[in-house]
Amino acid sequence: MPTLFQKIMAGEILAEIIYEDEWVVAFKDISPQAPFHVLLVPREPIVDLSQAADKDSAMLGRLFIAARNIARKEPSAAGGFRLVLNNGKAAGQEVPHLHVHMLAGREMGWPPG
Ligand code: 5GP
Repeated sequence: MPTLFQKIMAGEILAEIIYEDEWVVAFKDISPQAPFHVLLVPREPIVDLSQAADKDSAMLGRLFIAARNIARKEPSAAGGFRLVLNNGKAAGQEVPHLHVHMLAGREMGWPPG
């Protein structure tokens, strides 16, 4: 069964895609928690970080490179941005396809909720 995010990447479910490369697709979150909120999703449908293998190191690195590339072009990220990875139910993960939240455009509190 394809994941929700695979369906978005395949164009079966609409989303505003703002970035893509060989490894990663990024699109706007349907329920934004900041003025700028996108999800960085690897094309490979790995469930979560806990299930990543050593061989996934390039893909994991490319998630950060994608965030860097987006930040270079996104004005609201100029003053700072936050990356969040929810791993597992207790951390709030709802979609079983590894993804990183990228948030910007407002002051961020610490510790996160
Ligand atoms: P998680 O809670 O798994 O870390 O994050 C999943 C994210 O996916 C949530 O922030 C949620 O708003 C977002 N989301 C859920 N369904 C959709 C959808 O159909 N389209 C988009 N663009 N985002 C979604």
